[in-house]
Amino acid sequence: MVEIRLHNTKSRKKELLRPLDPGNVRMYVCGPTVYDRAHLGNARPVVVFDTLYRLLRHVYGADHVTYVRNFTDVDDKIIARAEQSGRPIEQITSETTEWFLQDMAALGALEPDHMPRATAHIAQMIAMIGDLIAGGHAYEAGGHVLFAVESYKDYGALSGRSVEDMIAGARVEVAPYKRNPMDFVLWKPSGEDQPGWDSPWGRGRPGWHIECSAMARELLGDSFDIHGGGNDLMFPHHENEIAQSKCAHPESDFARIWMHNEMLQVEGRKMSKSLGNFFTVRDLLDQGVPGEVIRFVFLSTHYRKPMDWTAEKAREAEATLAKWAALVAGAEAGEPSPPFLEEMANDLNTHGAIAELHRAAKNHDTRALRGGLELLGFGDLSQLAALKGEVAPEDEARISALLDERAHARAARDFARADQIRDIFAAAGIVVMDAKDGASWEKGPDFDPSKLEALK
Ligand code: AMP
Ligand code: ZN
Repeated sequence: MVEIRLHNTKSRKKELLRPLDPGNVRMYVCGPTVYDRAHLGNARPVVVFDTLYRLLRHVYGADHVTYVRNFTDVDDKIIARAEQSGRPIEQITSETTEWFLQDMAALGALEPDHMPRATAHIAQMIAMIGDLIAGGHAYEAGGHVLFAVESYKDYGALSGRSVEDMIAGARVEVAPYKRNPMDFVLWKPSGEDQPGWDSPWGRGRPGWHIECSAMARELLGDSFDIHGGGNDLMFPHHENEIAQSKCAHPESDFARIWMHNEMLQVEGRKMSKSLGNFFTVRDLLDQGVPGEVIRFVFLSTHYRKPMDWTAEKAREAEATLAKWAALVAGAEAGEPSPPFLEEMANDLNTHGAIAELHRAAKNHDTRALRGGLELLGFGDLSQLAALKGEVAPEDEARISALLDERAHARAARDFARADQIRDIFAAAGIVVMDAKDGASWEKGPDFDPSKLEALK
């Protein structure tokens, strides 16, 4: 069996994955807060952990992996959106949930086995908060229930900070009723016009962090194998999840391996509305960028490195996928090669795995190429075959110039040069069609414009 090693944020080391139960490998990933379209950055954890899910299914069997990703459908941003738009919360969250699933499906992401909504698990959250109060880890104050960070000695261990450092470095919400400024909200009161549920502490709603602890426990048990999310969630969200779950169930491990993807940038800059480089997944799809291309660009960078989205990378990705689609067309279904799997099992090194696919393509090992593409989530060959593989403007210009030169060479009866140019086109996989009104060209299955460079 392939041994999978994953970088554990908690130990800051690559660790061998030893599932608690190899018959049911369990993974939880924090999902979106549903009030708006997912931006391109939000898609990165989805694609990263979808790829890990596929690897786990490959190694342990499709029926032996349970993947949970939640929807946060109660949150102050959602309440604010409802107030601004005059639309009911339920309409906003269900519409946004649908959009999210459609957009992520376009990126080839499988649906997780469970996609719990926070509002469907309020009872479990109330029960857990009750346990925390009973255990002396939480207290009621000012209509709120707060988690007492000083009651958990390992608070801060995931991100490697002490409570004192956190207070100094973080923007903490100061509230007179907090015993320690780092104490965080488990439950808060709701006004008449805000969503709320009855609880032992009055009508209110949960703080954000408790939902993941409660839903992970409900669906995966007290201890499970992998917990993932973007590295912006490490603190405070994941630190708080650990504190809640470990204090409510001290005998459990909660998550054994913590994985965090780095952030996405656009053309070298942080994606932000004020810089004018903010866009959603849907914006890109609507502009005609195929979902497979977005996925391929994402997987070309290792998940623990910052990833830069550029138009140039998208064009290269499309050219590569179009070329590979032509190569594997009609090829037998195959298995991923051992070196490809080794890269994948080495902390999900998709960058290295893609390098192995380039090697397979070069060696015309179409079965290994097809098997690898399948495991990376590019199994739908008809989708791939539809990719046009946009030609870079420089290459277009070079090809046109060569076609003109060939026409002139022929007119001047310089057949040696005309034949040379024919060979250049053949080497670059370019098919030339001669007609009365001039010649045109199209890409053949072995289209490789880099060959134009070598042959002058
Ligand atoms: P949110 O809906 O803001 O809680 O974010 C949902 C997921 O998207 C979380 O796992 C975040 O870590 C992740 N995320 C947000 N922005 C980025 C970004 N620029 N790059 C990568 N992941 C991101
Ligand atoms: Zn979470």
